[in-house]
Formats: sequence, C-alpha cells, structure tokens
Amino acid sequence: MYRLERFEERIPVKDYIKDYVNVDEFLECCKRCPNYDKVWSCPSYDFKSEDYWKEYESLYILGYKINFDGTVSQEESLKIMAEVKENMAGELFKMENQCPGSVSLSAGSCSLCGKGNCTRPSGKPCRYPEKMRYSIESLGGNVGKTVHDLLGIELEWIEEGKVPSYFVLVGGLLEK
Ligand code: SF4
Repeated sequence: MYRLERFEERIPVKDYIKDYVNVDEFLECCKRCPNYDKVWSCPSYDFKSEDYWKEYESLYILGYKINFDGTVSQEESLKIMAEVKENMAGELFKMENQCPGSVSLSAGSCSLCGKGNCTRPSGKPCRYPEKMRYSIESLGGNVGKTVHDLLGIELEWIEEGKVPSYFVLVGGLLEK
C-alpha cells in the first residue's frame, strides 16, 4: 500500500536562515491559505519569525517520504499522511524531551483539534500550547528547497485530485 523512507540532516541555524529562510516571501503564500490568522500555529504572529530562528544554534531536519504504490485512494492517502504526521510528531517530542532547551517543528500546520476547530477564530487561547508547534514553512523556511538540497529528494509536481506517487513530510528540531 505504501512504503516509508526516512531522511535526516543537520545544519547550523545561521546557515539555514541565510540560504533557506525568506519570511516576507513565504508570508505572502501563507496569506493565501485558509489557515492564515485562523490557526494559532500559523501566521500572523505577535513575534518576528527571524527572531524565533535566532534563539537556536542548530537545526535537525527530519523527513519522511511516503511512497504510494498506486492502489491507494485519495481518502486513504490522507489518512496515511495524518498517521505518519502523528508518529513523526511523537518521535520529535521524544527528541525534544531528550534535548533540554530544544523545540520541535511540526510537519505542516497544527491539526490537534481537528479541521476547523482551532480556537483562534473565537479569540480564545490555544487549547494545547504545550503540544502546538510551528512548522518550518510557517516561520518562513523554504521546505521545497530544504527537501531538494538537504534531504536529496527530487520534487514531484502534484496534480490536484490525484494521489501522487510519493509525498514528503518535513519537520525538525531546533537545538540551543
Ligand atoms: S492545539 Fe488546537 S487550539 Fe491550539 S493551534 Fe492546534 S488546533 Fe489550534
């Protein structure tokens, strides 16, 4: 049904900022997403994303490539991706616990409360701030370039409505 491949890399944060972070450019993409200003893990923020990166020394990048075998329906592929994302978050939380001062980066936006159920539109605080994590892209990181250059995975154009031959989830751990 699907096969998982694991990729990892580590880079100094100052190099990552120089070559892979462009907050203004990616903020424009975020503004076109329905999650903009609607989910606490997504922009806009009450802090500067550049300052968030600068709190840390090193970025560990973790990627999972989910290879679909052609028999998976779109609904199944979404379930598989959600499952891999959850396992990946668990793996990164474990690393976070083992590395004092570190913080993990989620593969995509927060979906802990379910689609459309974030408290942000009602102005209430996040239900699980201890579990909510920002993603690389939400902080202005170029995930496509990260996947290609640092994880060595070729990017594939995804046709809307079709299950791709593979999908890559990328998260990480920022370390002091
Ligand atoms: S944990 Fe819930 S309330 Fe907090 S950002 Fe995620 S979806 Fe929103």
